Amino acid sequence: MSKYWSDFVHQLEPYVPGEQPKMDRLVKLNTNEHPLGPSPKVIEAIRAEADERLRLYPDPDSSQLKQTIADYYGVKRSQVFVGNGSDEVLAHLFMGFFQQDKPLLFPDITYSFYKVYCGLYRIDHEAVALDESLSIRVDDYLRPNGGIIFPNPNAPTGKLLPLSEIERLLQANTDSVVVIDEAYIDFGGQSAITLVNRYPNLLVTQTLSKSRSLAGLRIGLAVGDEALIDGLNRIKDSFNSYPLDRLAIAAGTAAFADQAWFEKGCELVTSQRQWLQEQLAQRGFDSLPSAANFLFTHHPAHSGEALAKGLREQGVIVRHFGKPQRIADHLRITVGTPEQNQALIDALDTLV
Ligand SMILES: *Cc1c(COP(=O)(O)O)cnc(C)c1O
Repeated sequence: MSKYWSDFVHQLEPYVPGEQPKMDRLVKLNTNEHPLGPSPKVIEAIRAEADERLRLYPDPDSSQLKQTIADYYGVKRSQVFVGNGSDEVLAHLFMGFFQQDKPLLFPDITYSFYKVYCGLYRIDHEAVALDESLSIRVDDYLRPNGGIIFPNPNAPTGKLLPLSEIERLLQANTDSVVVIDEAYIDFGGQSAITLVNRYPNLLVTQTLSKSRSLAGLRIGLAVGDEALIDGLNRIKDSFNSYPLDRLAIAAGTAAFADQAWFEKGCELVTSQRQWLQEQLAQRGFDSLPSAANFLFTHHPAHSGEALAKGLREQGVIVRHFGKPQRIADHLRITVGTPEQNQALIDALDTLV
């Protein structure tokens, strides 16, 4: 608290990121990072870029990276926006599209940054309850709104909504922007980017932090109709002209070029997810079907709090949200390497 703050700073409720512990040798399964490193070609690209040219500003448009993404998804470069992590892309689109008279709709159990941006930009919002199976029900969103946003698959549940349901939502909701946050889509879903040319109010965001193993670099993107991208560019150029530095532009471009590495990484995660879910089931855990790189799970006989604490004492860190009540006993466990996943199971065997 300080008398020097602008008034509204007192009212902010900032996002609390998952812990990044300083200790080594922890089994870190709490923030959905990729268990493998990025493609070696990404490291090479960063090395090749790290020279005296760093005295120069980067390309303010990140054209090379945008073109690579456009080619990858079969859209025009003018339909692609990039930012310093998809969190920054989200911040811009909240400001640009969701400051409306009617409330923004998003699930009651979802990525908690959405609510934080509503606070930052003073956006009125309504939390739409997930159904009894913790699924998003499209019919619940068919009502007056100033925008709709949810992750697909949703976080922290990992549950996927089929593309046909997203299309049904877009057909019924044409007067406000619909944002599909595809942070985890590469681990088991079909991207809604295939729909952007038919729905001018659809914006799809993705990140290189999860499936492309570059959380440390901060690269996010959005794909949509040119007019939406134009709006985002106006905000970006009123905020920070150079959100991506030279190293990030080179690395992001290289990451999309190494398809084999990307596919290998996604396959490791999905096969380990399957293994982990089976091992958990054998120990009495109930996990939601996941299309992401994490499992959302609970044990009928043990509290989420006790399990998270017991794991931590053995050097295994998972995410426990504790609220709302419906998910108070759930743990969100990132799928790790086979060794990490085994360590998690061994630690759980002392607890359940
Ligand atoms: C991780 C995550 C993001 C943020 O990704 P960054 O690109 O690292 O900022 C956005 N949305 C969801 C749902 C996420 O899980």
